[in-house]
Amino acid sequence: MTAGRAAPRIEVDLDRVRHNAASLVAALGHRSISVVGVTKATLGHPEVAHALIDGGVVGLGDSRVENLERLRDAGVGAATTLLRSPVPTQVDLVVALATTSCNTELEVLRMLSVAAVRAEVVHHVVLMVELGDLREGIMAEDLDAVVRVVIGLPNLVLDGIGTNLACHLGVEPSDSNMGQLSSLADSVESTTGDPLERVSGGNSANLRWALASPDPGRVNELRLGESILLGRQPLDRSVIEGLHTDAVRVVAEVIESKVKPSVPSGRLARTAFGTARPPEDRGDIRRVILALGRQDVDPDGLVPMLDVDVLGASSDHLVVDARSEALRVGSEVAFEPDYAALVRAMTSPFVRTVVRGGSEEPDGR
Ligand SMILES: *Cc1c(COP(=O)(O)O)cnc(C)c1O
Repeated sequence: MTAGRAAPRIEVDLDRVRHNAASLVAALGHRSISVVGVTKATLGHPEVAHALIDGGVVGLGDSRVENLERLRDAGVGAATTLLRSPVPTQVDLVVALATTSCNTELEVLRMLSVAAVRAEVVHHVVLMVELGDLREGIMAEDLDAVVRVVIGLPNLVLDGIGTNLACHLGVEPSDSNMGQLSSLADSVESTTGDPLERVSGGNSANLRWALASPDPGRVNELRLGESILLGRQPLDRSVIEGLHTDAVRVVAEVIESKVKPSVPSGRLARTAFGTARPPEDRGDIRRVILALGRQDVDPDGLVPMLDVDVLGASSDHLVVDARSEALRVGSEVAFEPDYAALVRAMTSPFVRTVVRGGSEEPDGR
């Protein structure tokens, strides 16, 4: 068995990623909104980054300097934006690895300026504004004061403002909060006297608003990861028209396949992961165990691509009702992951990432 066939694995179809990126770039382009391709779910995978660039994104975004370093070391030349506020102890890495960083704290901006002077580089910044979701962001009423300080800091350039919704408390992008972002852009410009290059409306959760709103106002950028990789609207998991939902798949291998009862025998107590829901009695079923568990994925986020039912999961075992599928030891089952399942699988040392398509030779085949 070659490395490319080893399971569990994540399979990324680069042609489908490129197609998804290109579709969204085109649709948003009609509204004068450009796309920053977000690589964090793939840990800054260089070939995925190339597929995004080939799809027409204007730059790459990631939340971690380690991922930006991976991109740089692989020779990916695009402009990069660090999406998470810089960690104070990493400011030197940030100015070395990111063209731009998203910021909310003056203390950190001062440190970035010092680091940029030391490294003799110009570092670009986007100021993130709080518009209701209560994750990162400067309160709107404080923005003007921060802008006045930032434009005076050596070796920093203010590229724009941005916001992030729907990540912490699920606040939906709307004409109201996006309108607020537009007016803030206007008022920052009247403070600085310079046009803002970037008014970054948000992440994949903004897509529906950006494509449907009668007037996207000043918003001229979205930062998209999940929607490109999974082809779905994060707000309700609906398929985005024209996009592939199987650009990324999680594949696992069968290690046991036996006909067993559908209900347990014996007195029931808690499991290591809480209380299991009692199954209904459907007589004997073919219970299949896949070598995939909570250490590898979020099992609740897996949609099987075969007609099987996920019955439950522990750390290392995924138990499945094989229904009518002929699954034997060594058979493979593929799943479409949701975002939670994808990021956990990408981060698990037990799950390999296999890319195919794009300019590269198919890996391991
Ligand atoms: C992760 C992230 C994104 C991308 O989000 P997706 O849902 O993957 O499109 C955009 N902006 C910020 C600040 C992020 O942290």
